[in-house]
Amino acid sequence: MAIDKLEVLERYFGYKSFRRGQEKIIDEILRGRDVLAIMPTGGGKSLCYQIPALILDGITIVVSPLISLMKDQVDTLNSMGINSAFLNSSLSTYEFNEVINGIINKKYKIIYVAPERLLSNEFITVITQVKIAQIAIDEAHCVSQWGHDFRVSYKGISTFIDKLIERPLITAFTATASEEVRNDIVNLLKLRDPKIFVTGFDRENLRINIVKGIDKKKFLVNYVKNNTKDSGIIYAATRRDVESIYDLLKKNNINVGRYHAGLSNDERIKCQEEFINDETSVIVATNAFGMGIDKPNIRYVLHYNMPKNIEGYYQEIGRAGRDGEASECIMLFSPADVITQKYLIEVSTEDPIRKNNQYKKLQQMTGLVYINNCYRKYILEYFGDSYEGECGNCSNCLNKGEVKDKTIDAQKVISCIYKMKRNFGIGMIVDVLRASKNKKLLSLEFDELSTYGIMKEYSSNGLKEFINILIAHGYLDVNEEYGTVALNNISFKVIKDEVKVLLKEVNIESNRTEINDLFDKLRLLRQEIAQSEKKAPYMIFGDGTLREMSIKYPTSKLEILEVSGVGEVKYDRYGERFIEVIKDYIIENNIKKEIVVDKEEAEEIEDDYFEVNSNKELLEKLIKVREGFARKLNLPASMVLSKNTLKEISGRYPNNLDKLKDIGGIGPKKIESYGKSIIEEVDKYIIENGLDPTWKEKKRKKLIIDGETRGTSEIVLDRLNMGEDIEDISEDMEISISTILGYFTDYIKSTGDYSININIDKYYDKEHEELILEAINKNGIDKIQVIKKSLPDYIKYEAIRAVILKSVIWSKERS
Ligand code: ADP
Ligand code: ZN
Repeated sequence: MAIDKLEVLERYFGYKSFRRGQEKIIDEILRGRDVLAIMPTGGGKSLCYQIPALILDGITIVVSPLISLMKDQVDTLNSMGINSAFLNSSLSTYEFNEVINGIINKKYKIIYVAPERLLSNEFITVITQVKIAQIAIDEAHCVSQWGHDFRVSYKGISTFIDKLIERPLITAFTATASEEVRNDIVNLLKLRDPKIFVTGFDRENLRINIVKGIDKKKFLVNYVKNNTKDSGIIYAATRRDVESIYDLLKKNNINVGRYHAGLSNDERIKCQEEFINDETSVIVATNAFGMGIDKPNIRYVLHYNMPKNIEGYYQEIGRAGRDGEASECIMLFSPADVITQKYLIEVSTEDPIRKNNQYKKLQQMTGLVYINNCYRKYILEYFGDSYEGECGNCSNCLNKGEVKDKTIDAQKVISCIYKMKRNFGIGMIVDVLRASKNKKLLSLEFDELSTYGIMKEYSSNGLKEFINILIAHGYLDVNEEYGTVALNNISFKVIKDEVKVLLKEVNIESNRTEINDLFDKLRLLRQEIAQSEKKAPYMIFGDGTLREMSIKYPTSKLEILEVSGVGEVKYDRYGERFIEVIKDYIIENNIKKEIVVDKEEAEEIEDDYFEVNSNKELLEKLIKVREGFARKLNLPASMVLSKNTLKEISGRYPNNLDKLKDIGGIGPKKIESYGKSIIEEVDKYIIENGLDPTWKEKKRKKLIIDGETRGTSEIVLDRLNMGEDIEDISEDMEISISTILGYFTDYIKSTGDYSININIDKYYDKEHEELILEAINKNGIDKIQVIKKSLPDYIKYEAIRAVILKSVIWSKERS
């Protein structure tokens, strides 16, 4: 096999290792065996069929029920340099034909197809003309009536497969674990002797918190306000709740969206898109939201109410942290939630068997809320996974809150209820304990009770909260029909001092790492690129990738390629821009990158250089080839290939595509476009000159061309120092004047030396100086991108950089 799975993982996806289960699944697929893989939401299913798709000979068809997701997935793949397309009802006839042509011309490795399209004549006619390597069925549980998401169109999949002359490999993926569903998938999709994988259901990066007896609204607003930069979903049980939380957050100036079945389709799509593009940070939704959402950087899922069953709960919290980064799940529980859910079950179905089943599931859900040990263990065991010990990442395992003895206060409440004789709601109990003069209370003569006013030190809300906590922990009961509070066996034990009431303070500590403001800067850049490319920000780089950059400060290609999530194509597209921001940050904050190496490693690094001497004659020829492309494509030559890349080629003589991959600055896309011509040129040169160059792999060693060990900015400054013209340097080194001015600015800032004399004035229009200065003052001198955005388009980077440089020199002169 030409290319191996790890290589694909690194080069295209930029990831350094497989997640649990992925590797075995991929191996089995590569061996040619049908596979059914059951993995939790966010476990990384797509990679399991995408990697084989790239390695196997032929095209992979991915069947997926979610039209809204197809475009995202295809965009993501294309942005990594993997040619793919989708076919569904959202395409115009023209677009549809484009894709069909692409299939015939073998342009794609992967196509996503909606199940109802599979059986169309057009599709079958075309697809039978090409070799199909794999049919991957996503959300395979949709084929089963037992699943929660049955789709009739999934029944057509096996009919489609039967129509193919040669049966390709069939792979199926789902997050639903039940036995019935699993059997249905194997039988209805006619999988042949499939290897079945059930990877564990644990999602270690999710912290599971359940919070009881608090003022939900207060908690919610606080939490959201403390996490405004993060993406989160708030689930509420009813539309009414969604609306009221939405209004509440709006009032608190939170950038919030909403989603429920009562909104128009357009409104829902708009809210969803704004959320995916990080334009709103929070979305409040009923459980109708989420199926079409693949956003990997959701940092928290907050349940305002307890959901109706554990399946739903786990699926919903599973939408947090798909990118593997630490994320939080918080459920706010009050006993009233149980009443709401029972009501929803009552109105949802007439069928007594289904009703019964739903009540049973609700009971298991409520059971989770009340347990005193590890939540994760309970959930995983519910799904049939065994779990040893405690997870250390749920609020029961972690609760560091101080334990307080609240027995006496509890006794006061209990004896008050006892003395009130009939059962009342929490409001009345609170009124009695706090000595209210409400009419009903007085008419019932509760002011005569010995417990009247014995808890005045509590606020009204505080006391309500306390009683709710007693209920949540089972020290009191609620009558669900009337919402009244009643005593139970445990209440009496408390009164008799047989049971102590020990309560922990609730205390949710974020498990997310503190992130420095470089992270914010990188995030800003990501947002900017996403907007200009009309893509979701996560398609540029994931949160984890930005976080790693903000910790490791990569400033070279080599270093940034080491960051998880940075593959070759992404590097080519965005690498330099991110590096620039990182460099600015390092200089600005005087950060010394700590390179921790032990001695052995240091020695290895010593001879980790790869030296190349360029060949002037061949270089000239290559430059001509490049010029040809630049003219044809109407691009600046340096955008086609950098001079350094050509120099490296001229000194190493790569004469096939494989060798070319080892050259810096030429990723798969560029190889596809220019590779052939370059190889031809190299080959011709070798033959004409009777050369027999030996090929040595560079791998990822640091490259030194013609003995040059200085970095680009160093060379620029040296040349400026020697009195060379900016224009000459720019042309010769193929870097923009604006970049050179930036290097110079950084140099002055870090050394204080402004003795190099250059003519800055010619790079900006005097008339614009004031406008630019204003933008600089308003946004801060280092926020180049923001400054640029705030100015009219005709003011170029070059002018901004020049004015900045001027003001830096000016302030040095004055100090
Ligand atoms: P699922 O379909 O199982 O819910 P996805 O396939 O959407 O999950 O993957 C969830 C996220 O995890 C995606 O952002 C994906 O890029 C990322 N991911 C998958 N595999 C890896 C890996 N080996 N290393 C790092 N990230 C990964
Ligand atoms: Zn736990």
